[in-house]
Amino acid sequence: MSGKEIRFQGLPISNGVAIAKVCLFDDNRHHKMPLEETSRLSVEEEIARLKKASVLVSQRLAEIRDKVKREIGSAEAEIFVAQKMILEDSSLNEQLLYLISSKRAPAELAITLTFDEYEHKLLAVDSEYIRQRASDIAEVKRRLLDTLSDTAPGFKCEGLGSCKKGRNRIVVTEELTPMITIELNFEHVKGFITERGGVTSHAAILARALGVPAVSGIHGLFDVISCGTQVLINGQTGEVVVCPEPDTISQAHQISTVEVSKERIIEPVDNLKVYANINLSNDVDEALELHAEGIGLYRTEFELFSAGRLLDEDEEFERYSYVVKKMNGKPVYFRMLDVGGDKNTQFFNLPQESNPYLGCRGARFLIARPDIFNQQARALARASAYGPVYVMYPMVVSAEQLVTLKGMFASAIDGIRTGTIYQGLMFEVPSACLRATELLEMSDFASIGSNDLIQYLFAVDRNNDLVAYDYNPDKPVFWDIIRLLISAAQKTGKPLSICGEIASDPKYTSKFIDIGLDTVSVSSRLIPHIRLAAMEQSL
Ligand code: PEP
Ligand code: MG
Repeated sequence: MSGKEIRFQGLPISNGVAIAKVCLFDDNRHHKMPLEETSRLSVEEEIARLKKASVLVSQRLAEIRDKVKREIGSAEAEIFVAQKMILEDSSLNEQLLYLISSKRAPAELAITLTFDEYEHKLLAVDSEYIRQRASDIAEVKRRLLDTLSDTAPGFKCEGLGSCKKGRNRIVVTEELTPMITIELNFEHVKGFITERGGVTSHAAILARALGVPAVSGIHGLFDVISCGTQVLINGQTGEVVVCPEPDTISQAHQISTVEVSKERIIEPVDNLKVYANINLSNDVDEALELHAEGIGLYRTEFELFSAGRLLDEDEEFERYSYVVKKMNGKPVYFRMLDVGGDKNTQFFNLPQESNPYLGCRGARFLIARPDIFNQQARALARASAYGPVYVMYPMVVSAEQLVTLKGMFASAIDGIRTGTIYQGLMFEVPSACLRATELLEMSDFASIGSNDLIQYLFAVDRNNDLVAYDYNPDKPVFWDIIRLLISAAQKTGKPLSICGEIASDPKYTSKFIDIGLDTVSVSSRLIPHIRLAAMEQSL
């Protein structure tokens, strides 16, 4: 492909233009590696490669086990004990050696065939516990193949080491999950290209919050690039150019200069309060720089994703009180951990579900895990000593659920000296929207989570670019629900805002103001754009 640029068209999900080398972040890249049928090495050499990889993986697993035990807990560390046992399993190792010595299979093929066979056998067993062990087998396989790739003849991937975890690179990945962000040096990433992911996927939200371009729905890119290939990405048009020609690069530079010059601080406007969405406590500094009038969504689960582990109560308190102090009396909507669905994480040991988007997530997860809930409630209550705390429950489906959550909160904070605490909910599920008045009467405030609301209203996956045509907020029925919520808020006199991604799109700002919504919450960097749109509406 030298000298000839290759163009791809995808779904634009975060504005901006970037040109950089890529970091291939493909969790499953070894599934796609062409596997040689017969080894080019001697049987002894191939066995030595396998043994070396096995020892390295075993050492790594022991290190992770100790780290997890120290920082998280013994129960969680058991996962890695189990993985180490798989690696040392005698019948599995016999099969590997048999394939290498009798069939002359390269180590990669022997591992793939053996581990896949074991995984499929476990997946077929009618027991949730056993099926979970299948994912451990897949994980051990990936670790072995990753380790082997450094020694594979004829296969050279620069890997994460030289990519410095995406630093100053455009990260290319199948899907950007919150878990992957733990691995990335994401504050220094130049852009994201994903195979999957819609406009409100977490990849998109993260990219917009970081102010870097992102395009999704690019299929087949892995086949034409390798780590280090230069790529141009235009998050406005959805275009991705592999090995761009000098003319293409200079045109792109012109576009990016115009975009940067648009950034400036705009003071608060009269007709719309603009709050900031933040993921980490430190993000509050940028929100203040851009004169946010409050924090309308603090996605507290991202603190765990970023730390790569569960936090203890003092660590949560430290982060929450930092934000409360910085905001100096302005509202801070702390969304209690919103886990499950695409925000699944290994720290919680969630059961495998065939449909996690409709499973133990959001409010259901909080109720199912009082240990996690109570700790977070106590940390929030302690933080309220420094300024008002707004506790916001995610994915609430009914009034009964809200009663349960409020009851749990009250018991958890019993005995703590608190300041002012308000409690409210996110409207993200149609069943809650249809009971808006009742739910608002029980709450101090609410915020519309349009990302999930659209997903559940139209039964369309927010992360699936293949059905993105149906993920459309322009459909009248969506606005019927928004109007219904606004009228319930006006009737009950409770503050209502919107914190989903639609609030960040200036195209909708005047419509929200026209129909009576007075507060939006958006990524800090978009605050000026939304204020400009609100000013235009008032002209
Ligand atoms: C939403 O669903 O609109 C929302 C703001 O929450 P999240 O995007 O974190 O699911
Ligand atoms: Mg949501």
